[in-house]
Formats: sequence, C-alpha cells, structure tokens
Amino acid sequence: MDIYDHPTFRMACQQFDLVADFLQIPEAERARLKFPKRSMTVALPIKRDDGSTEVFSGYRVQHHLTLGPTKGGLRYHREVTLGEVAALAMWMSWKCALTGLPYGGAKGGIACDPHKLSAGELERLTRRYTQEMIPFIGPQVDIMAPDVGTNEQVMAWMMDSYSMHMGHTVPSIVTGKPVGLGGSVGRREATGRGVGYLINRTMDVLGRDTNTATAVVQGYGNVGSVAAFSLAKYGVRIVAVSDVNGGIYNPKGLDLWKLEKYNAERRTVVGFPEADPVTNDQLLVTPCDILVPAALERQITKANAGQIQCRILAEAANGPTTPEADAILEQRGDIFVIPDILCNAGGVIVSYFEWVQDLQSFFWTESEVVDKLFRILEGAFTQTLNLSRKQKISMRLAALSLGVRRVQEAKRTRGLFP
Ligand code: GLU
Repeated sequence: MDIYDHPTFRMACQQFDLVADFLQIPEAERARLKFPKRSMTVALPIKRDDGSTEVFSGYRVQHHLTLGPTKGGLRYHREVTLGEVAALAMWMSWKCALTGLPYGGAKGGIACDPHKLSAGELERLTRRYTQEMIPFIGPQVDIMAPDVGTNEQVMAWMMDSYSMHMGHTVPSIVTGKPVGLGGSVGRREATGRGVGYLINRTMDVLGRDTNTATAVVQGYGNVGSVAAFSLAKYGVRIVAVSDVNGGIYNPKGLDLWKLEKYNAERRTVVGFPEADPVTNDQLLVTPCDILVPAALERQITKANAGQIQCRILAEAANGPTTPEADAILEQRGDIFVIPDILCNAGGVIVSYFEWVQDLQSFFWTESEVVDKLFRILEGAFTQTLNLSRKQKISMRLAALSLGVRRVQEAKRTRGLFP
C-alpha cells in the first residue's frame, strides 16, 4: 500500500507489527487489520480574497468500519498528507476500541496554513471540503471533529454545509461544535481534562505528591493549555511551555492566568515577561516530574529519548514518541509512559457523548459529562495498567494490545462477506 507511505504511517505500522507479534495474530489477519478500509483525496478550489483561485488538497481516511461509523478529527496544517492522515486514523481505531466506543477510526486533513487564510477563505475551504466529502460521510458513516488547526467554528461551517445539502439540520454529522448548535458542554476541555486526570492517577500509582511536582508542556493549544490548568488544579507547578514560535521557562512556576491573557492578546507564549526563552529542543529535556508533549507526531526520537528528564511522559499529542525512542525509554526503565491512545482519549470520549446527545436530542449537564468521562478513562487506565504489570510489557504495548485485540475479535466474529 505505497499510497500511504510516510514516516508517521511507517511508525504506526511498526507499532502495529509489534502488537501483532505479541498477540500472535496470524499473517492473513494482519493486513486486514492494518490497512485503511477506504480513503479519499479531493482537490479543493477556492476563491482567495484577492480574486485569484487556489486549489488545496484534502484527505479523509476511514480505517475500519467493523464496530460502527468511523470517528476522528480534521487537521489543517501545511504538512498534512494522505499517509499522515492514515496513521492518525489507525491510532483512532485503537483508541476507540481501548475505551470501548462503538466506532472505527478516521482522520482527515487539508494541506494548508490556517493562520495565513482569512476567516472568509477558511470558511470557503471548509465548506468546499464538506461538499466534496458528502458521498463519504454521515452520522452513521463517518463523524468529524476538531484536531490541530481546526476548532468549533470550523465544525459549525461543516455542520451547516452538510445540513444545507440534506435540507434539514443534522447536528450529529460533526462533534466539537459550539454548544449553541448541539455541541456538548465539556467537549472543548475534554482532552486536556482527561490528560490531567490520568496524570493525577499515575502520580497516585507511583506514590508521588502532585503538590511538589513540576510539569513541562510542549504545545500550548486547546489540549496543552487545558492540561496545564488541570494539572495546576491538582497542585502541579508548570515550569515551561511552548508553541510553534518557541518556549518559555520559569523554574518557580508560570502564572497560568497571566499567561492566558498574554497568549490571547499576542497569539503566542513567546516573550512572556515572567520567564526565560527556551528552544523546543531544550524544553523537551528540561528536568521535571511530568513531561506533556501536546503538539505533533515524532517529537521524542532516538536523538533525545536518552536525555529526557521526567518521571511521567504523558502523551497528549498523537504519536509523539517514535518506536526507536520507545525502545530507549523501555531500556531506561525510569519513565512511566501514559501512551497517546489512552492519554488523549478524553476528546473522542466526549465526542461520543456529543453524538449520543445529538441523536437523542437530549442534553446532559457538565457534571454528568465529566463524571462519565472519568469513569471511562478510569476503566481504560486500570485495564492497561493491569495488563502491563501482568505481562511485564510497556503501557503502550498493553494499551495497543487491548485496542487491536477488540477490533480483531470483532472482525473474526463478523466473518468475511460474502
Ligand atoms: N482529534 C481528536 C483526537 O485525535 C478528537 C477526535 C474526535 O473527537 O473525534 O483524538
């Protein structure tokens, strides 16, 4: 399947192969589990504000359809490719299966820099993408959500475009919408909140006190910033954070409320007065108790895995650690990894709640959402930890094994058609 060839897809396949070996999955079943069920590439011509026409490339990959519709985010980033999206879709499959959601994984993206497009251009691009995807999506087929570079407004435009085509309002076509349009309370905070919950849980397991702990957060977007606030609530001191422009460091701890205001005004954390500048490379090796990569894939590699100085690595991003880095971390044995498909699952869990609420037109309170979110995370965390201890395997291998095994069993039980 050369069409998916990309470093991130190769990484997802490498992880899958390790799991398949561990689970002793027969060769014939491996390809069926590994490769995406279907994928779509579209050309998206839009009118730019200066009157010119530009064509962007858009993608959507649906990894498997065995357990229900597919589910996953939509990413706007310059480097989006079909292969990257395919890897992210595969991870969504294992994430949904690990947490018991009735979905297969999907992911989509448009290769563009959303910061260089006006609001009007972004809206036209989003509407055009949705239009092109109509034969491929639906509330019982494939449901999109925000990811890197997209937000509630983008979801609102998608929902509107789809609804106009259908002739009636269809809130359940996307999740992560504004609450006023059928979004769920607590969806925006869900990923970061889940990250905070799982770190706190891990601190308990390790017998550590959150009140004396420090954390470093790479990526200060929706996930990283909410995770930082959530950790601060548990008493953790946030000593360094970064965004695409660079990082900031203050060993005494950053004032998150002041930083929030600064970031809202300047659209970057760089230059925050009460901190020293650090590069992204320095940030990742800053001594701390908790390191939270909340940006993009392949940040922790064989080049820096030996130098990382934390007790807990909480993967808020998808695929931040390469398999080579994983091998180094395992050999070191001093770092507890909360693997991505568990650590950041809060987002898709509350997306599932949003979809259920939309289908029933019956909406829940924030405490209902948070309570149900933590219950699911607790179950997935405990199962992963137990398997990891029982089999003496890494938390990543345990989490992936639980996810892959469930999809494998579902495929086996359903059998082959015809
Ligand atoms: N983009 C998020 C993720 O990677 C959320 C997906 C969703 O809510 O469907 O998990």
